[in-house]
Amino acid sequence: MSTLFISDLHLDSKRPNVINFFINFLNNLSHDIKAIYILGDFVEYWVGDDDPAVGLQEVFKLIKKISKKIDIYFMHGNRDFMISKKYCEENGMKLLDDPTIINLYNRKILLMHGDTLCIDDKEYQKFRHMVRSEEWQKEMLKKSLSERLLLAKNLREKSKNETDNKDEFIMDVNSEEVKKIILKYNVDILIHGHTHRPNIHKILCNGKEVKRIVLGDWYDKCYVLELNQDKVSIRKNNLS
Ligand code: MN
Repeated sequence: MSTLFISDLHLDSKRPNVINFFINFLNNLSHDIKAIYILGDFVEYWVGDDDPAVGLQEVFKLIKKISKKIDIYFMHGNRDFMISKKYCEENGMKLLDDPTIINLYNRKILLMHGDTLCIDDKEYQKFRHMVRSEEWQKEMLKKSLSERLLLAKNLREKSKNETDNKDEFIMDVNSEEVKKIILKYNVDILIHGHTHRPNIHKILCNGKEVKRIVLGDWYDKCYVLELNQDKVSIRKNNLS
């Protein structure tokens, strides 16, 4: 039996080929898959559960159908943290906290979206703290749907401009923070996304070798991590 991990699909009606790839991926899962973990930034944006989710109706319907056979877990990313627990449950996904620890194939595994590891980006961390607060979200949901859609669009543009102007290292994880969190939870593997830098890093923590597996995004390629008793592998799939 295998378990799959994905993140940073950024599903968006503007990239229908990625949506189609994901639908095909779900429709063609091998029989030995026992669970799928989606570690954030599943959709490009989400302004509340009244989000029109343009182009994504089929995706959610399919997830719900498949969840009757396979466990589907979802963790919030920085784009889709407004998806409520209720919405997840109604659509066959189990919402996970960030971080979450799971035990699989005799390994203790820490799951995160990954943005909390990027502590060098102080500006972003401040922003994250604000938007993850209950007060901010409550105020946000009081606004009309069209206001929220416009706000989300502006935030995406702002984030894109800032990202273009920030040093590469600032947007990557802070290695001391990674070590700290691995030691805090005493895990064998850390799996996260967010940075869009797929890789398997080996880190020495107190004499123990720990893997930090970074999931890739779904832009030019679609990355899927497969874990089972014998192997850890990142599949890099071509679109279409
Ligand atoms: Mn992210």
